[in-house]
Amino acid sequence: MNTFLPSNIYPGFCDLPDPSWLVFSDTVPGMVYFSHLPIALIILFLGTYILYKNFNGLPNRSLFLLTLCYATWVILDSIFWASNRGDVITFVWSMQIIVEPLIYICALYLMYGLIKGKDPGFARNLLITILYLPVPLFVPSKLMLYAFDEATCLSLEGPLATYYTYGIEVVILIWIIIFAIRESIIQPVRKDEIRILTLGIVCLLLMFSIGNILGSATGDWEFAHIGLFTMPIFLSIFAYSIIKFETFKIKLFNTLVFVFALIALNFSTLFITDISTFRSIAFIILVFVCVFGILIIRSTSREIKQREEIETLVAKLEKANERLKQVDKLKSEFVSIASHQLRSPLTSIAGYASLLREGNFGVLPTKMKEPIERIEHSARFMAESIEDYLNVSRIESGNMKYHLTDFNLREETEKLCNDLRSEALRKGLILLFRTDLNSKGVVNGDLGKIQQVIHNLINNAIKYSQRGSITVYIRDDVKMKLIYVEVIDTGIGMTRSTLHSIFQKFERGDEANNVNVAGTGLGLFVALKMSEAMGGTITAHSKGEGEGSRFVVELPLVM
Ligand code: ADP
Repeated sequence: MNTFLPSNIYPGFCDLPDPSWLVFSDTVPGMVYFSHLPIALIILFLGTYILYKNFNGLPNRSLFLLTLCYATWVILDSIFWASNRGDVITFVWSMQIIVEPLIYICALYLMYGLIKGKDPGFARNLLITILYLPVPLFVPSKLMLYAFDEATCLSLEGPLATYYTYGIEVVILIWIIIFAIRESIIQPVRKDEIRILTLGIVCLLLMFSIGNILGSATGDWEFAHIGLFTMPIFLSIFAYSIIKFETFKIKLFNTLVFVFALIALNFSTLFITDISTFRSIAFIILVFVCVFGILIIRSTSREIKQREEIETLVAKLEKANERLKQVDKLKSEFVSIASHQLRSPLTSIAGYASLLREGNFGVLPTKMKEPIERIEHSARFMAESIEDYLNVSRIESGNMKYHLTDFNLREETEKLCNDLRSEALRKGLILLFRTDLNSKGVVNGDLGKIQQVIHNLINNAIKYSQRGSITVYIRDDVKMKLIYVEVIDTGIGMTRSTLHSIFQKFERGDEANNVNVAGTGLGLFVALKMSEAMGGTITAHSKGEGEGSRFVVELPLVM
């Protein structure tokens, strides 16, 4: 015996005409065709479409299976309504008992998929299987269907069908509600979405069950198909959730469902002969059209509004872009003005102040020495600051030009040391130059820019040292094809946090601020960017505050 087929297939005939095509018979109330066939078509279409959009998604798969079970149940029910044979009715009824709890189980998985994005986990899957397994196992027994009543043309349900299968449904319904409440506490942002989805699913399941429970309880199965009308309500809520929260990320979805459902519902009216039934059906279609129509109009008007907003934003952006171009042009003009009309006079102020201080225009009265030195120092500082700002603006706009040539870095560094020695001495600092080279010390780079980098580091060493010495040490690593210029001082040193930030724009260490040394915080940023542009880098080292500093410029060596 096939265990999947109930052994309790009861023979017998009721006093009804034979159906044609299994489902068509004059005795079937017109309403049944309306509530069954189009509903089966709509939901099958819906489920298949969602599965087609994403075959692997858990919510997509669960919804597809749910619609498949639902459609199967509904088709079996249509056969039940039309049949006049005891064996067909008990078989169809048994199959419905198997399929019904599956609809609930699929709904539960749909909730997990939509809300959690994953299935309930091994333990819960096992529990669901154990709960469900007795249903197909006991279907062939008298505990499910024990007799066929020819007078009413109905199978008679045993205790397992009445209590156990409906029991599972109640358990799963409660499970869904508890799960939704828990999840809306865990994910408060999605509270509204979870609420609407739960409402949709619970609505569907409840209405579906109420018909069957009333049928089981009263023996009057006319109620059962009324629950099926709630499918459009479920679809409406579902569509609303899709529009509002993009649950399945399918924009076209609601319109497709609407059009397809309308076609199917109208098609089914062709089978209705009685005018009062026709009227009720027309009313149901009207409600359906209203709900979906409003949803679609709202979503379309929202889209139109969004498109209009985007268009105005695009127009505004174009204007802003134009304005930016103008501002950029103004900035470039300003940069060139700053470069020529501010920096050049400052350099000449500093130059003349220096000539005055050195006595090139006659002996300077002692009283004037300090003011002249201050003029020279301030003019140089201003010129350097302007140079720093110009460099930052060139680096950021990508306009920094590099003229690469081969030159001897050792010689150039030594020259710089000689130039800056007197300045160091003025602060009481000794400036030493040391080499340890295995090559000639030739590099390929922009001479002016590399001079600027090393000048900046020695200048900083002088600025940030109160006493002691500054050692400029040049060494190479022939194997690695690298050359290093180290600037080591015995000055204020740097803390760990200062070391982290000094290569960023406008960053200055607290120690520097404490010793009251003027600066822009741009020198190291510019120096690093320039070194990097020439294939090198700069690193900074210090054992801590008051422990001196060591800056290392690394550049590729030309062999
Ligand atoms: P500025 O010297 O104009 O402030 P820099 O970019 O050249 O700007 O230097 C950034 C910061 O790095 C300085 O403010 C200082 O805190 C720190 N710094 C640079 N060189 C030294 C040094 N030789 N010794 C101690 N701190 C230094």
